[in-house]
Amino acid sequence: MYDVVIIGSGPAGLTAAIYTTRANLKTLVIAGDRWGGQLMLTSLVENYPGFPEGIQGPDLMMNMRKQAEHHGAEILDSAFTKGDFTRLPSPDGEANGGQAKQPFKIWAGEKEYQAKSVIIASGADARWLNVPGEKEKIGRGVSSCATCDAAFFRKKVVIVVGGGDSAMEESLVLSRVATQVTLIHRRDSFRASQIMQDRVKETPNIKILFNSEITEVQGEMKVEKVKIKNIPSGEVTEMPVDGVFVAIGHIPNTKVFEGIDLDEQGYVKVANHYHTNVEGVFVAGDVHDRAYRQAVTAAGFGSAAALEAERWLAKQAK
Ligand code: NAP
Repeated sequence: MYDVVIIGSGPAGLTAAIYTTRANLKTLVIAGDRWGGQLMLTSLVENYPGFPEGIQGPDLMMNMRKQAEHHGAEILDSAFTKGDFTRLPSPDGEANGGQAKQPFKIWAGEKEYQAKSVIIASGADARWLNVPGEKEKIGRGVSSCATCDAAFFRKKVVIVVGGGDSAMEESLVLSRVATQVTLIHRRDSFRASQIMQDRVKETPNIKILFNSEITEVQGEMKVEKVKIKNIPSGEVTEMPVDGVFVAIGHIPNTKVFEGIDLDEQGYVKVANHYHTNVEGVFVAGDVHDRAYRQAVTAAGFGSAAALEAERWLAKQAK
C-alpha cells in the first residue's frame, strides 16, 4: 500500500515525488515507458533557475530522478495502464457522486498497486506535423516551444506552423530575436483571437503564408530548409530556414483516466487547489495546464499537488 502513487515522471511528477518522500509518504512513481517527459526531447534548457550556463534537458531530468530516488521514491519504468477511480453513490443517491472507493487501485502493465492518494502528472505531448525529417530534427532546429528555444535563433530565419493563439504567440516571441519569421497556415484564415492576429499582422518581420503546408524538413545535422506545398495549386517550393516551430496544439495524456473529469479538449479539470473531481486524486503540470507549459511551472504545480496530497492524507488519518 502506497501513501501516494504519482503517474508521470516529468518535472511535475518528480517534483511531487521529492515533496511526498520528504514528507515521509511512501511513494511510487509510475514513470511510463519513456520516463522524463518532454524535456528528454530538448537540448539546452536556459530558463530553469539554478543553472547559470543552462543544462541539457535529459541531464536536468536525470538530476530530478536521482533527487526523488535519494529521498526514497520508488520509480517504476513502465506505463500506467488503468486506474479505478470509481466513486460511491452520494448520500442523496446520485450514482458515482460520493466519496472515492478506497484504496485506489492502479495498474502498470498487468501489475496492480494500491494507493491512498494519487497525483496525475502524465503531461501533454506537442502535436507534431508527422512529415519526413521532422522527428529527427527535434532539438536540432525543430521545436514546439518558442519561449524555451527562441534565444537559439537570434538573427536567424524561422518558420512557425499553425493558426491558433499559440502560433501567433510563438511568432511574436520569435520576431523579437529572429531576422525573419514566416507564419504558415493550412487555411486562408486564422482561428486565433483577433487581437493576437492584429499583433502578428502589425509586426514587420512576420510574413504570413496562407493555404500552405510543410511537406518535408531537410538538413544534414540540423534544419536547413523546408518543402512547402501551396494547397490549392499543389505547387511545391523550397525555403531555406534555420528553425521550424510547430504550434498546432497539444494532446494531454488523459485517455486512460476513466472517472476523472476532463474538459472539452481532454485536459484534467481542476476542482480546487489541485484536487480533481475525485477526492484523494490530485493533478499537476501540463496535463491540466494549457497556459504556461514550462518545466518550472510544472515543477511548481508538482510541489503544490504534493503539499495538498500530504494535507489531505493527514486529515484522513485523524
Ligand atoms: P488551437 O487553437 O487548437 O489551434 C491549432 C492550430 O493548428 C489551428 O489553426 C489548426 O488549423 C492548426 N493545425 C492543427 N493540426 C494541424 C496539422 N496537422 N497541420 C497543420 N496545422 C494544423 O491550439 P493552440 O493555438 O495551441 O491553442 C490552444 C488553446 O490555448 C486555445 O484555446 C487558445 O486560445 C489558448 N491559448 C491562448 C493564448 C493566449 O491567449 N495568449 C496563447 C496560447 C494558447 P485549423 O485552424 O485549420 O484547424
